Amino acid sequence: MAVITDAICSLCGSLCDDITVTVEDNKITSVERACILGRNKFVGMFLHDRIESPMIRKNGELVDVSYEEAIEEAGKILANSKRTLSYGWCSTSCEAISKAIQLAEETKSLFDSTANVCHGPSALAVQEKGGPAATLGVVKNRADLMVFWGCNPAHAHPRHMSRYSPFSTGSFRQKGRKDTKMVVIDVRKTDTAKLADKYVQLEPGTDYLYLSAIRSAVNGHEDVIPDKVAGVPKEDIIEVANMLKDAKFSCIFYGMGVTQSRSKYKNGDMVSSLISDLNQHSKSVMIGMRGHYNVTGFGQVATWETGFPMAIDFTRGTAYYNPGETGANDVLTRGDVDAAIIAAADAGAHFPQDSIKYLAKIPVIQIDPYANPTTEVADVVFPAAVVGVEAEGTAYRMDGISLRMKKLIDTKFKTDEEITSDLIQKVREIKRGA
Ligand code: SF4
Repeated sequence: MAVITDAICSLCGSLCDDITVTVEDNKITSVERACILGRNKFVGMFLHDRIESPMIRKNGELVDVSYEEAIEEAGKILANSKRTLSYGWCSTSCEAISKAIQLAEETKSLFDSTANVCHGPSALAVQEKGGPAATLGVVKNRADLMVFWGCNPAHAHPRHMSRYSPFSTGSFRQKGRKDTKMVVIDVRKTDTAKLADKYVQLEPGTDYLYLSAIRSAVNGHEDVIPDKVAGVPKEDIIEVANMLKDAKFSCIFYGMGVTQSRSKYKNGDMVSSLISDLNQHSKSVMIGMRGHYNVTGFGQVATWETGFPMAIDFTRGTAYYNPGETGANDVLTRGDVDAAIIAAADAGAHFPQDSIKYLAKIPVIQIDPYANPTTEVADVVFPAAVVGVEAEGTAYRMDGISLRMKKLIDTKFKTDEEITSDLIQKVREIKRGA
């Protein structure tokens, strides 16, 4: 029996690094401190729908084959493709992401992450206006006002509030929640909103209007604010603006309710501008509530290797970036790719119908530990080791802190990194032979 301490939960962007895991006969028999989602990842992985063997679709059915046969088949698809979409790579290690970039460059593919359908607009906003940020450690120790905007950590990041935010304790917030004001801004009263000191209910799609009104109040232009903005009475807008101005240190945690509602990246742009306004009065920062545990790592690795955080097109032989033109759904809805690799993400469950219909028409290679809706349209399927449980690797927490995930148990499955390396080698071999 082995007791492994300080294991990292590789599920959500909180990347909790205080998990204790007991391993007996190469099985995880107990998990301490993880939330229900994290626990299911550690223990439930034996119960989930694991893909047991590599598979190739023959006569409409997926049939078991060896890794070598699957690599051969996937290599042919990639070598013959004029333009492949390589999508996902956010529930895997930075090392695998780096290899995937190499493969995308080798095959002149289009390379995109799950941020395409979640926090991608935040990246554009940060490029345009900057993103004054801090680590979760700084927030936990200092922030006396925490705002959750368009996110619901009670369900999506269950330990966030107890480890890093209102219900944690810190050097300058020794009484924890009692030393912290909590504001929730959302279109519906979520379970997170029920815990707040102040809940602001916005009409759907009006974040930009509300942000403009808050900025007017923060900047002393209350007179221009109408009696109601975004469904919120003027006095409530002024109250929240004053809470933000009066705080010694505030943090706005923002989620997809901000980045994927009307005005998209312009909402993030406005959050950033609000933070700049607040920094004239006190100290304020913003942190995106990232979902996939290493979607932040994708942005980091892609940026340092290509100069861009997502939606990177290698078709011209050099990195080109223009979200709206080079995003995964942009090329799928235009029918602009002739093959796809979907790895460590589930396009089948999260993409719009037109994109999925197009995926069903082209050869799709899937790399994932689990069967999911993407498997239904896949022609070659690679089962992969679960990173953070069956393989080690690096991941970036939502605040940009890199952490090293441990391997806890042995597995028969290859890692994403190994599969991707094999594909690079196979594509080179085929091209050299051609
Ligand atoms: S909050 Fe996220 S990282 Fe932490 S234990 Fe739960 S699922 Fe895992």
